[in-house]
Amino acid sequence: MREFAYERATDPARAVALVHADPDAVFLGAGTNLVDHLKLGITAPGTLVDVSGLPLGEVSERPDGGVRVGATVRNAELAAHPLIRARYPVLSAALLAGASPQLRNLATTGGNLLQRTRCAYFQDPSTPCNKRAPGSGCSAIDGFDREHAVLGASEHCIATHPSDMAVALTALDAVVRVLGPSGERAIPVVDLYRLPGDAPERDTVLEHGDLITAVDLPPLQPAARSGYRKVRDRASFAFALVSVAAVLDIADGVVRDAGIAFGGLAHTPWRARTAEAALRGRAATDAEFAAAATAELAAARPRRHNGFKIPLARRVLVATLRDLTAREF
Ligand code: SF4
Repeated sequence: MREFAYERATDPARAVALVHADPDAVFLGAGTNLVDHLKLGITAPGTLVDVSGLPLGEVSERPDGGVRVGATVRNAELAAHPLIRARYPVLSAALLAGASPQLRNLATTGGNLLQRTRCAYFQDPSTPCNKRAPGSGCSAIDGFDREHAVLGASEHCIATHPSDMAVALTALDAVVRVLGPSGERAIPVVDLYRLPGDAPERDTVLEHGDLITAVDLPPLQPAARSGYRKVRDRASFAFALVSVAAVLDIADGVVRDAGIAFGGLAHTPWRARTAEAALRGRAATDAEFAAAATAELAAARPRRHNGFKIPLARRVLVATLRDLTAREF
């Protein structure tokens, strides 16, 4: 492992200045993903700027009825927080579906958003990978692609995004607050991530030195119900083959509005705008849910080993919406 310098930042502006000034520096949160990468030889930064002790650990109500989550709030704490459990059960459920209890006790909100793909080739430095080594090729394209993308992939990368939490935040229309060298800005989570295109080494639109400081959850309609369903190879500690986060607003058996995102299908949490549009104003029935799922997945392109994801995603979406419709209030 390459030797590196370590700095513990005490305020966000100082952390941003330290990383911005050094192209070889990176932020270190809890390290649950980055430290693995250091050990595997996936990355070798010259300086780690530790941001885990920054005063960004609060969950607070906003004047508009929403909730702000600080970037260093731990995943376990967020999942158990009374405001999150009461108002955003989809987020609590997604957090509890991710990783192991030990990891959730340590991992932070900001770090969860920025964790990298678990494509097996990305994690194996002996293989070509455009995301790890731009221009080297993509081993997955002619390799074992069972866990890879069926939506939004490119000829340069077919990886999927690993975060359950980010799928829930996408369905919720959450907004990420970022502090960069030029000041603060807000980025909707749905715009934070990018499809691979010809630059798969870039997972997000963030620039070097940009620090996530918080996530804002918008207020939900009082009647909105939300949930998360994840299908994986084993019941514990596995990444999603397919997951669905859904927020459903129903009145008199008719869908007034819906927010839907898929996990496990694309390089980003996949916002299902086509399905949402198909559902608005329609009866909350299995037939309408299936039609919306089919419309969304019409753009899906199976590869050699992952064609099962498309019918699976259809069924998971229908089941998730059916559960929410039947839920008592
Ligand atoms: Fe690398 Fe992406 Fe190909 Fe995986 S799918 S080997 S991450 S380029």
